[in-house]
Parts: sequence; structure tokens; C-alpha cells
Amino acid sequence: MITQRYNNCIFCGSQKLSLSKNQYFSHNFYTKSIKEDLGLSDTFFKKFKVHECQNCFIIQNNPWFSQDISFKIFNQIYGQHNRNWSNVINFFREGRKPEHGKLLNLITNNLNVKEYCEFNAPFMGLMLDLFEREYTKNLIFYKNIFNYALKYLSSRQVSGLKKTPRNIKQNEAKNYLKKLKQIKKKYRKKENINKSLLIDNSYLSWLYNDNYKSVNSRALASELLDIKIKDFNLIQNTNKYDLFGIFHTLDHTHQPKKILNYALNNSQYVLIYCHTDENLEKQHLFSFTDKFMSYLRKTNVHYKDITLNINKTFKSKESYIICSKFNKIRIKI
Ligand SMILES: [Zn+2]
Repeated sequence: MITQRYNNCIFCGSQKLSLSKNQYFSHNFYTKSIKEDLGLSDTFFKKFKVHECQNCFIIQNNPWFSQDISFKIFNQIYGQHNRNWSNVINFFREGRKPEHGKLLNLITNNLNVKEYCEFNAPFMGLMLDLFEREYTKNLIFYKNIFNYALKYLSSRQVSGLKKTPRNIKQNEAKNYLKKLKQIKKKYRKKENINKSLLIDNSYLSWLYNDNYKSVNSRALASELLDIKIKDFNLIQNTNKYDLFGIFHTLDHTHQPKKILNYALNNSQYVLIYCHTDENLEKQHLFSFTDKFMSYLRKTNVHYKDITLNINKTFKSKESYIICSKFNKIRIKI
């Protein structure tokens, strides 16, 4: 089964989905790859009609790809999350950070963040900014630490090797881990922020093939950036965060409302960075919209749209929203 129907809103569960006037469609890099790999016709994607939820105002394709196919899309067809990897490669090779304008300044000037969590993709948000604060900035150190972490993790891959090459790899792993620990200790500053990455292993997200040089992004995040990896499906509500960042990942899970509620209930502040483009592309099941904020208001969530305050150059229509269940948002710009 290639497609399935999504008659309820994927975010709030409402059946009040009305057909959108905007049924714009043109192929892009992603839909072309899906079309080729699944052997679909050029017009196949036109079956997906855009609907708007009249309760929470997200927009959603219906029908859309089945769960089985969405696994293939995010793990085979484009299993490597290019932007996630470009962010970490650019940072450790050249010291360039993901572009979020003045977001970090705005956060550090207004919030006291000691416990920080992000959702699903490790290199899309502020984790690299935090690394920059925790370690002395030095490009040779950056290159070495990245290299040691990748080599340590890939030398742990010994399947199919005979005894001698396997032993060589095991020694390599030991040496790279030792070097990694030494270099971290040498360049470490006193900053102390506890970082976690909450993952839910959704089939709408990059998982098992989100690899670079055969190393998975989450394994690298854990070893290189000292991030605790936590499974949403096993977690207990005992974690308290100062800030919970969701960077282009709330539209990449089948349980977005549960994730957002978890974040709102367990963090003083939640930052949502998401697409808010009225043209819903066909590789996405759903997208948030500007009107989604009126749903936040309706559910008594305090929020502030800071998109225009961070002086970022936008390439597509996106929003940055700070929200909280507990605190009114008083942000000094
Ligand atoms: Zn809805």
C-alpha cells in the first residue's frame, strides 16, 4: 500500500479538515527522488490534496504516503539528513554555526538555561552554539575532535573482519577514544549546561541511515557533544528543563501534540522553529502555519513570535516562536 488516508488532523485529532483553496504543486529535489525510487508517475502527487484543520489550523495532505512508505522515504530514499550533517561538518571544519540570526543572544540575555533539551535531530538547533561556549574556540581542536569521534565510532565496526584486522581496529578504537577524552579535557571551559536529545523514532524522521562516514548522527552527538539521548516512549515525567528546543522536527513525527505537550509540561520555555509556508510540499504529511498561534492562545499557552526580532535572512517561510505554559513571555529584544 503506497498511500493511506489521514482523515483526522495529525496534530489535534479533529475531523474538521477542510479542503484548502491552495493546491499548488511543483516537483522538488525530494519529490523527484521519491518518484524515481518508488516508480511513480509524474502526476501521482496530485492525488494528495491539501486540507486545513479548522481547530488548530495546521495544513495536511490527505491522502498521503503510508507508514511503510514513510519509513522508506526517511531511511532509504533520503535517509541522510543533509542540513543536519552540513551543520555539524561546517562547524567542526570551519567554525561556522547553523544560521539562527541573533537567537542565541536573545536567549542568553533573557533566560537562565542550565538544563536544555532538543527533539530528534541533534545538529539543527543550538547544540553547536552550546559546544562553542563549553570549549575554547580553536579550529585545529575542532577538526581533531570531530575526526577522533568519527574514527572512534567507525573503528567499532568490525563485523566480517578476520582476527588480525579486527584487533587492529580494536586498538584504533581504544586510541581514538583516549585522544578524544584528552583533547576534551584540555580545551574544556567551566560552562555547565546539561544537554539532552529526546527522540521518538518516528517514521516521519531521519533515523537509521542518518549517517556520515558510516557513523549515525545520534551516536556522534552523544560522544562528541556530550548529549544524553532519551527515548520519548520510555521517558518518565521527571525531567525538568529550562528550555526545550524544537528545530524543524515537530512536523517530522506522528505524535506532534504529545511531543509539544511533553515539552510544555516539562520545560519553563519551549522554542518552536518550523515551516509556516502556505504551499505544503508533497514530501511533508503536514505543516504548521501562522494561524497555529491562535490555537496556542486558545489552549492557554503564552507565546511570542520572535521571527522578526532575530535578524535572520530567510530562504523560505519559517517562524521562531517562544512559548510557555508557566511563564508570560517577557523577552527584551
Ligand atoms: Zn488540528
